[in-house]
Amino acid sequence: MWDAIVVGAGPAGCTAATLFAREGLRVLLLDKSAAPPPKVCGEYLSPGCLPILERIGALKSVWDAGGRPLYGMTIHTAARRTLEATYPRDSDVTGSPLHGLSVRRAVLDPMLLDRAVKDGAEFEPYFQVSDLVWEDGRVVGVQGRHRGRVTALRGRLTVGADGRNSVVARRVGSVTRHRWLDKVALVSYVTGAERAEDVGEIFLGHDRYCILNPIGPDLTNVGLVINRRDFTPTTDPTRFLLETAATLPGLRDRLADARPIGPVRCLGPLAYRGSQLAARGALLIGDAAGFLDPFTGEGLYTGLRSAELAVQCALPALCNGSAAHPDLRTYAAAWRREFLPKWRLCTLFQHAIRRPPLAEWLVAGLSRRPDLTTLLMAVVGDLIPAYTLTPLRLFPRLLTRARTFA
Ligand SMILES: Cc1cc2nc3c(=O)[nH]c(=O)nc-3n(C[C@H](O)[C@H](O)[C@H](O)COP(=O)(O)OP(=O)(O)OC[C@H]3O[C@@H](n4cnc5c(N)ncnc54)[C@H](O)[C@@H]3O)c2cc1C
Repeated sequence: MWDAIVVGAGPAGCTAATLFAREGLRVLLLDKSAAPPPKVCGEYLSPGCLPILERIGALKSVWDAGGRPLYGMTIHTAARRTLEATYPRDSDVTGSPLHGLSVRRAVLDPMLLDRAVKDGAEFEPYFQVSDLVWEDGRVVGVQGRHRGRVTALRGRLTVGADGRNSVVARRVGSVTRHRWLDKVALVSYVTGAERAEDVGEIFLGHDRYCILNPIGPDLTNVGLVINRRDFTPTTDPTRFLLETAATLPGLRDRLADARPIGPVRCLGPLAYRGSQLAARGALLIGDAAGFLDPFTGEGLYTGLRSAELAVQCALPALCNGSAAHPDLRTYAAAWRREFLPKWRLCTLFQHAIRRPPLAEWLVAGLSRRPDLTTLLMAVVGDLIPAYTLTPLRLFPRLLTRARTFA
């Protein structure tokens, strides 16, 4: 009997495994692959990730492996307005580092797995979980295929960290797609792009956008997000990505000399949500719980932070000496409190992406209010939880206003 079985060795699963193992618990970390597989990702870590990486002892390794600081986001609208939005400079605002990081997932993910193993978690590769094991209405373990054999494992807690298409999420509840967001993403690396060095850049078009993230010297992560209906499956996704990105105002010249490096990865539909975040003996963290859109880049933060929340909520029950499977309703409540306000803010931005006049209005308004822009960046950068921000009470009103642009 394991204390915790963590399904999925992505950033969320490795963080949870590290934290459980440090408490002296017996942790098994499973992944269907030999190591975390390549991800479709903009490879931007929001500033809020840095203190968590520091707490799990991985921040120095990320810097040593070539992590680059990002001090904010520059947004270019379809009408060629520009908003230079930086994270707060005054460390007294939050007490946290005031920049994000760009780092390749091919570097970050193995580093976090290495951390978990060094801290005492046992890693089992090539274990594809296909079902949960239930007894008396509680989850008591997982079942899956391991090296050609069907195997069942028992644990007091099962943590679903198996990303989008999570088996654990579907077994604990249901997974529903977003009502109106139906996007796909195409992501690749290019050299030769004309890009900023220490900020990310977002180019807005009509109901689509493209992000440039400077990931290394003359290496740029290019991510295009468009409606699924506008994506025609093609034999040449590289050409589709670069040609479609070049139609966005201001981006054609920037990509004129860009040469793709490596494959284009496509993913969609992007937005979905698990109906149930926890059951007796199981809970969901990271993308397994849900995902909205990469525009505000909080996926990795949500993975790391939800892992911390999960450990905080489950530890008292796991450490009290009883063999009972913990009741995790407190985790579901903590998750909603921590992440739902930010989802609402992100939904507001999605309304703006759909309606260019609203995007222009927001960008023009924020350009005149640097104080509000900085505050928003503190929230977007996960430096301040959205729920602590009084002006966020404005957002329901902003959302109502957004609908008038429909
Ligand atoms: C286009 C795009 C761009 C993005 N850009 C950013 C960005 O710039 N910054 C950011 O913070 N976030 C970004 N994200 C989101 C970010 O990539 C995810 O939120 C993050 O990878 C979630 O981590 P995770 O650990 O929850 O899941 P994952 O990283 O997906 O890890 C899940 C793991 O579970 C394993 N697994 C899956 N199923 C099973 C199974 N049945 N059995 C065993 N193992 C299994 C997989 O092999 C994998 O290793 C982006 C997302 C998209 C789509």
